[in-house]
Order: sequence, then C-alpha cells, then structure tokens
Amino acid sequence: MPTLTDQAKALLNLELTADQEALFARFHALLVEWNARMNLTAILAPEEVQVKHFLDSLTVADAVELHRGMRVVDVGTGAGFPGVPLQIVYPGIHVTLMDATGKKIQFLEHVIQSLGLANARAVKARAEDAGRFPEHRHVYDLALGRAVARLPILLEYLLPLVKVGGYCVAMKGRTAVDEVNDSAHALSVLGGEVEDIESFQLPGIEETHHLIIVRKTALTPSAYPRASGMPAQKPL
Ligand code: SAH
Repeated sequence: MPTLTDQAKALLNLELTADQEALFARFHALLVEWNARMNLTAILAPEEVQVKHFLDSLTVADAVELHRGMRVVDVGTGAGFPGVPLQIVYPGIHVTLMDATGKKIQFLEHVIQSLGLANARAVKARAEDAGRFPEHRHVYDLALGRAVARLPILLEYLLPLVKVGGYCVAMKGRTAVDEVNDSAHALSVLGGEVEDIESFQLPGIEETHHLIIVRKTALTPSAYPRASGMPAQKPL
C-alpha cells in the first residue's frame, strides 16, 4: 500500500515530512482508540482512513493558498476533518476546529495536545451562534465544511465567519453542481460568489470529489445567520 506521503505527492504535489507522516499515524491511532468509546467515524481501516479522511482533507491545500498566520475555521469538523490534516501539514496556519458536539471537542482537545498542534484550538459551538459572536464573526480568512449540510445551509454557517476578501470551501461529492445551482439566493443574501469548482479523483474511489470555492464579496447582513436550527429548517 502506498504511503500518505506517496499519495499526497502524486495527487497534490505536496511534500510531507517524516515527522508529519508520523503525526498522521498517531492521529489514526487516536481515532481507533477513541472510536471504541464514542462514535467518531465509520471509516477506520488504515487504507480507507488514509484516502477518505487524510488525503481528501489535504485537497483543500490544492484549491486555496494556505499561508503562515492565516485564520482557518473548520465548521462541523467532527473527528477533525478537514482541519486536523491541514494543520499537520501547514503548522503555520491557525485552525479553529468547531463542532456542536461536546464529545467531539473533547476528542479534538486530546488530539491537539497529543500531536502538539500549537496553532490549533477546538471550540464547542453551533455555527449559527458562533456567527453572531464578535470573536468569530467576519474574522476568518478561510472557512471549511465537509459533510455538514447542503450548500445553501452550509453557506449560512460559513459565510458570516469570513472576512470580506476571504474564502469558503465546501467539500462535496456528486451533487456539487446541483447544490451550487440551488445556492444563488443564499450567495446573494450572505455576500458570496462561487469562484471555482475543483474536481479530484482520489485513488481507488469512483465518485469524483468537488471543492466549491466561494469568495466573500460583501459583509453579511446582521440578520444572518438566523437563530439556531433555522438555516436547516428553512434554507435560504
Ligand atoms: N467534517 C467531518 C464531520 C462530518 S459529520 C467529516 O467530514 O468527517 C457533521 C458534523 O457537523 C457533526 O460532528 C455535527 O456535530 C456537526 N454539526 C452539524 N451541524 C452543526 C452546526 N450547525 N454547528 C456546528 N456543528 C455542526
């Protein structure tokens, strides 16, 4: 089986160090260990974790430039995807791992400590609440979401967190284009424009993966995000 280093080089032209490869192994071990106690992920086999979690997360680095000091928020990060793999490979970025579930945040705090991810933090919050707090509103350079909600809903979670001129990246499967077509209203209300859709064929995976890259073009009006639960109940 090829290593993550081999696959990241081949697919993304990304060079991992031996130390980074070791951090991924440690992260995988923690996923397996904690998954026995809580439901973190259905994917645990080494080759699947490597491709579907680690390599998939790293595709974000191909779609947007990650530079030192950049503030990144991963909304609905779950067991840490895509935020933890990106923080491992780009230790100079500042990753906020956000999730509504306290147990996931406990796991992530352990991961951050155990892997020594000095620039990462885990925050227990619903995106709709965080989007109203000055600490999180209009402050991030990049907001990410994978497997959290359909795009019109996800945009109401992500766009309020991002500075004008910053980006959101939504990680999607085969429904990407349909979801973009359903998001015209959400984009115009929240202040975003789809700049690009990048496609990836991960090794051994039939379904094409897409990254929807959205530029934040205007401040989000103060009415958004709406109260907790509303974005999902009545999508824009
Ligand atoms: N991004 C991860 C996890 C996806 S599961 C991955 O791709 O593997 C979706 C996660 O989003 C869950 O952990 C859930 O708790 C979280 N979530 C769902 N809605 C949310 C919201 N409104 N605010 C914050 N977290 C949310």
